[in-house]
Amino acid sequence: MRDPRYDILFEPMPIGPLTAKNRFYQVPHCNGGGYGDPAAAAAMRGIKAEGGWGVIFTEQTEMHQTSEITPFIELRLWEDKDIPGLRKMARAMKTHGALAGIQLAYSGINGPNFYTKEVPLAPTALPIRTFTNDPVQARAMDKSDIRNLRRWFVNAARRCKTAEFDLICLYGAHGFGIFQHFLSRATNQRSDEYGGSLENRSRFAREVVADMRDAVGDSMALTMRVSLDEQIGNLGFSNAEVREFVEMNADLPDLWDLAQGSWDECSGPSRFKQEAAQEVLVSGIRELSSKPVVGVGRFTSPDVMARMIRQGVLDFIGCARPSIADPFLPKKIEEGRIEDIRECIGCNICVTGDMTMSISRCTQNPTFMEEWRKGWHPEKIATKGASDTVLVIGSGPAGLEAARALSLRGYDVAVAEARDSFGGRVARERLLPGLSAWGRVMDYRLYQIGQRPNVEMYPGSALSVDEVLAFGFQNICVATGSSWRADGVARQHVVAIPQRGALPIFTPDDLMQGRVPKGKVVVFDDDHYYMGGVLAELCAQAGAEVTLVTPAAFVSDWTRNTLEQGAIHRRLAQAGVKIVLNTGVSGLLPDGVETCCSYTDARGQIGCDAVVMVASRQSEDALFQGLRARSADWADAGIRSVQLIGDAAAPGPIAWATYAGHRYARELDTGVWAEDWGDTLSFRREITELAED
Ligand code: ADP
Ligand code: SF4
Repeated sequence: MRDPRYDILFEPMPIGPLTAKNRFYQVPHCNGGGYGDPAAAAAMRGIKAEGGWGVIFTEQTEMHQTSEITPFIELRLWEDKDIPGLRKMARAMKTHGALAGIQLAYSGINGPNFYTKEVPLAPTALPIRTFTNDPVQARAMDKSDIRNLRRWFVNAARRCKTAEFDLICLYGAHGFGIFQHFLSRATNQRSDEYGGSLENRSRFAREVVADMRDAVGDSMALTMRVSLDEQIGNLGFSNAEVREFVEMNADLPDLWDLAQGSWDECSGPSRFKQEAAQEVLVSGIRELSSKPVVGVGRFTSPDVMARMIRQGVLDFIGCARPSIADPFLPKKIEEGRIEDIRECIGCNICVTGDMTMSISRCTQNPTFMEEWRKGWHPEKIATKGASDTVLVIGSGPAGLEAARALSLRGYDVAVAEARDSFGGRVARERLLPGLSAWGRVMDYRLYQIGQRPNVEMYPGSALSVDEVLAFGFQNICVATGSSWRADGVARQHVVAIPQRGALPIFTPDDLMQGRVPKGKVVVFDDDHYYMGGVLAELCAQAGAEVTLVTPAAFVSDWTRNTLEQGAIHRRLAQAGVKIVLNTGVSGLLPDGVETCCSYTDARGQIGCDAVVMVASRQSEDALFQGLRARSADWADAGIRSVQLIGDAAAPGPIAWATYAGHRYARELDTGVWAEDWGDTLSFRREITELAED
């Protein structure tokens, strides 16, 4: 049972008129579902309730038509019509005694209003501050606008109550909420009683809280989410000013929810931010108020959590990503099952769901956002179907996740791995600069598999077609992964890069196997995710003079979706890597590369001793193709199915591989993987009801 060291995490805690059953607080987080997939989003929150969280919040909820953040998909509470969907979520949250919270967001200077076409309103007239530099400006609110906005907050609060929420969070962090816009001198340059001194800049927050208390304060708790440090220079809402604000308004909300200034700082990936990274910024704020304090820091270690409470840094342990990677984190601590916690790796793939307006994925938890769509529960899985045995070939994230989930279903599983150690790509990538936490993908699965009596692991077993046919397994799951191409085929080049001379070419696989080039090195990145930037950093660390060349306008372009693009560029610049953007490599020369401008095709040259080719990957599917060619022999060999999954089917991020492994395990013996699959949809979806004409 529970280790007494963690008892403190399970103490009931008051929040205003309410009491949370423990200190585990799922702070608001996006999921790509929102108003577009309300049943899927509600079921996901319901799973958190089952997992033991004491407080569970929605993602940000747009509370009025004059402020919305299209194209991003969050929640909406614009009229009574929105209440049933939100009530469904609130009820799911409350199923196991958790408090249900809703985060009300008025986006102000952060809301371009593409959908409603309303003129954005903000404390001061300035361009809208979004990721995408939208060509829209906000109008400065006059006194009647402020009166209206106060009333809209009250209307929204009443609707939140009707929707059966317990807590309302007033959003003023990450640069996204109007409260921060009033508090910061950068976005509030007013000369009336709402601008100037901190007391004046706090006025709007004080007025809204007072209005809302009058409306719903008897039964609901009000929390305020503020930035810990806006980090935009002297005019920004600094950490010192945050402290002054809390001290000056000590008892304003029923709880202070403290989050770092910008979202990319607050949700920093493990490559750049450690667990509890906000401790310094948050320490001491609790003493300035009698109200409880929640803070975040990608907490996955119960020891760190307990220390945060014991040392008086926090009252509640706020988690977004750790609650996505393992919705049952509190329950596992309570049951003394620390080793079973599926720790977040800090990759921010979950964030990409929001950034790309699609249903989110999680690298560690393939069931995230599939709780309703596919009926996948993170801790429960149906018992096995008609067959009994599975041979999983390859022990990367796809193979390991398949083996783990198959063993839970009750299959007898063997995992054959060509190499002497397990883990596939994760075993190698975890050794790259900043990526050690990614190793949790294999550590978690290898530990879980190690606890199961029905999984046999065979390292050093590169299997051939004949061996597979001879072994007598009923199901063959081929998860043999992929390898990086040396010929440059990716996006700029769909056939091999022209080569004139013998310039040494290194692939990411070479570097991960310890063959790191020396001297002058060009890293050509036409992959655009993390690998090019990471390898440039690795080569620079090894003493090479590195130039990173990419046809894209940004280094590691796709990492804008994981909130780390800025940090990657900064780190490379600091490491002395020369960055050449909007430039392709048109050919390899004996002593360098020929470059071409992405726009004009103007040619140039960069002299170098070697090129690191970060292009695309090739599926290692020869074994699968060989088995298919022998399908006539399957019946005699006792084989009922052969499937290709993960990178061996189509290379992608690690999250795609864990999903593929999980899906294979879930669907084995269910008929979904039959030859003629695909005529029916493989998940449930929700379609907006048609309105009457
Ligand atoms: P994924 O991301 O799809 O899980 P990985 O590349 O991480 O793929 O892992 C694939 C693993 O499969 C690698 O560790 C590789 O050594 C192993 N493998 C490839 N071919 C064979 C084979 N014929 N027999 C056994 N293991 C293999
Ligand atoms: Fe953590 Fe990555 Fe999962 Fe997000 S996707 S919760 S960062 S493991």
